[in-house]
Amino acid sequence: MTVEIGRLRTLLDGRWGPIREEVRDQIRAAPLLRPVHGLPVEAYRARVMEQARLVSQTRSARLFFPRQYGGEEDMGGALSAFETIALVDLSLLVKVGVQYGLFGGVIRRLGTERHHRRYLHAAMTMELPGCFAMTETGHGSDVQSIRTTATYDPARQEFVVHTPDDDARKDYIGNVARDGRMAAVFAQLITGGERRGVHVVLVPIRDERGRPCPNVRIEDCGDKGGLNGVDNGRLWFDQVRVPREALLDRFGTVAPDGTYTSPIANETRRFFTMLGTLVSGRVSVSGAGLSAAKVALAIAIRYGLTRRQFRVPGRDQEVILLDYLQHQRRLLPALATTYAMHFAQSALLESLHEASDGDSADESQQRQIETLAAGLKAISTWHSTQTIQTCREACGGAGYLSVNRLTELKADTDVFTTFEGDNTVLLQLVAKGLLTNFRDEF
Ligand SMILES: Cc1cc2nc3c(=O)[nH]c(=O)nc-3n(C[C@H](O)[C@H](O)[C@H](O)COP(=O)(O)OP(=O)(O)OC[C@H]3O[C@@H](n4cnc5c(N)ncnc54)[C@H](O)[C@@H]3O)c2cc1C
Repeated sequence: MTVEIGRLRTLLDGRWGPIREEVRDQIRAAPLLRPVHGLPVEAYRARVMEQARLVSQTRSARLFFPRQYGGEEDMGGALSAFETIALVDLSLLVKVGVQYGLFGGVIRRLGTERHHRRYLHAAMTMELPGCFAMTETGHGSDVQSIRTTATYDPARQEFVVHTPDDDARKDYIGNVARDGRMAAVFAQLITGGERRGVHVVLVPIRDERGRPCPNVRIEDCGDKGGLNGVDNGRLWFDQVRVPREALLDRFGTVAPDGTYTSPIANETRRFFTMLGTLVSGRVSVSGAGLSAAKVALAIAIRYGLTRRQFRVPGRDQEVILLDYLQHQRRLLPALATTYAMHFAQSALLESLHEASDGDSADESQQRQIETLAAGLKAISTWHSTQTIQTCREACGGAGYLSVNRLTELKADTDVFTTFEGDNTVLLQLVAKGLLTNFRDEF
């Protein structure tokens, strides 16, 4: 059987093929975008930041942002570009994911026009490196129970952002330890002495010269099990004051006198609606995990087609690894599953794109996207973790050398099963979504 590579590639690239090709061309042309290994942490972080600045000058950045702020507003294209960038270095992918998908995304989805006007262009160009500060040491999966507070002071028309204790410090936050200048901080909003649930306020954390802002304490999370090109860190706020306008107020606003209003009366419903609009982050992690699995499979299968081990009985020739049925059974089902997941991911991208980028006014369409994204993220990142390990073993000792990339792919994708929603917790969400849909049929 002959395979026409060009036609297969067109089929796999799908609707956003030209964008994928454009990013592949950029990768080929830019020495800065070649994978490297073994850099010390600071040099690695500096390189990834430089790479991210390079990406910020390309279409990959613009695709994320609305046209009126200089973007091209094409979420399917943006996530396809992301999947392609993931082939270079997963630290770079996470760095730009934090900047565009999380920081830019939360301003766009939870903010209103004044925030868009003020910050979106600067987020797109990386002029304003930002962070998405949701997780705390004490609460990760259970975001609704975070304990950072944003208390409104009507006398000065400001919010006072405060970390009550170490358990409530922001933890693991990307872009915090080295580069971030502003954080989108998830906090319990308090007005008129009443709690209004989790909201997001924009808090400057460093000045233009990179010095921490007054009453903001920043700590480096240090060396991690992977993704060491990303500067994850911790944040404490000691009664930090920000103006009333710093509240991202699409789903809940505070008047100058402290009166709180929201288009969604129920606090829990409001919370899940807010989080639901950020679904594209999950879709991007799912796609990036699959990209890593594809790289690993390409390495292991090519190696299996050239590496020989043990002599054929009665002949003066050694056997090619992939001629062993055992070797085929290890790699080919993983390859077939990766193809299947690739098409599932493409279908999800299309659905997300058609559903207003995962911010659909149609509640049942939105719920369906959230359920699909949660399910596919869990299944595909677990699949990637297993596949990369299989590929590493399939390459024997050579698979363990850093230069062959498999150990790094393994280390970098490991945490994909945890961030953007822990996989086990996500599958519980999927079950809940399916049962709710089932109930609605009656
Ligand atoms: C490298 C890295 C980068 C990150 N970047 C960011 C960032 O930029 N911004 C940000 O806000 N956060 C970030 N995070 C935090 C990440 O999102 C959280 O780690 C994640 O949400 C899980 O929270 P947790 O670590 O508190 O784990 P926990 O919630 O404590 O979970 C621990 C274990 O308990 C299980 N578990 C929890 N609840 C249940 C339940 N109800 N039923 C059954 N089992 C359960 C989970 O499955 C898991 O195995 C990052 C984390 C890492 C490691």
